[in-house]
Amino acid sequence: MWKYFALLLIGLASALSFLYFRVGVPKIYREPALATTPLHFYDNPQKPISRINVTAVYFVPSDKQTEQIDNWRELLEENLSKLQKFHELQFQGYSRLTYKIYEQPIIGEKESIFYDTDNTNKGNPEALRTTAAEIEKRLLSAGGDLWNDKFSSQLPEADYQPLIILYEGVGASGAVGEPAVLISRRYFTELEYQQENTTTLAHEFYHTLGIPDGYQEKIQEGYGLQIEKLTTSDIMGLGRQGPLERTYLGSQTLQRFGLE
Ligand SMILES: [Zn+2]
Repeated sequence: MWKYFALLLIGLASALSFLYFRVGVPKIYREPALATTPLHFYDNPQKPISRINVTAVYFVPSDKQTEQIDNWRELLEENLSKLQKFHELQFQGYSRLTYKIYEQPIIGEKESIFYDTDNTNKGNPEALRTTAAEIEKRLLSAGGDLWNDKFSSQLPEADYQPLIILYEGVGASGAVGEPAVLISRRYFTELEYQQENTTTLAHEFYHTLGIPDGYQEKIQEGYGLQIEKLTTSDIMGLGRQGPLERTYLGSQTLQRFGLE
């Protein structure tokens, strides 16, 4: 009789362990996201981003040559490399980012006031527009005075080739969907930006892939106080204010690139 009882106990124990180990354990981890078709611009399946190649330059307005720094190349290299790793991680390898740095500083044809105009608010979007146009004409078009076969015609093949401009001036700017970013050299050499320099670069870079801001600034009448509303916590919203290692691209944002 005790044999049957023992068998019954063993049976019960294995049934319970099956339930415990196989059925009853909730899946708390997130499945890695998958891309079934090539990734594309934010909300724009017509523009693929499987391979992105950034052209990076140091742009110095003609009247700012005395402020020009020597280690700009190392600063660009270090920060582009961080952006590359961040991008790889966020897009899980479905979008690859490479970069090429133009060897010489580009001395602008004009002085700062031409690039900046008299309004450098909102990240200096005027300088982004004017410097990008000059670089396009001089460096990236055959016949431009900086066009050089070794650099310009040997850029790696890519779906998307945005420009990152390290600017000897003020500002940080990237227009939504436009293939250029401007960021002041000061972000990488001044203490006050130390925490968020690469994050700012990445935030502006992701505008070029079509992502809008995750926040809106409202100015309260009479006080000039800025209040943020509609804030996301990722790099396009609140997460733009800390180090790159501590921020991310939200999963809803990534879905709009085709990452399921
Ligand atoms: Zn922004």
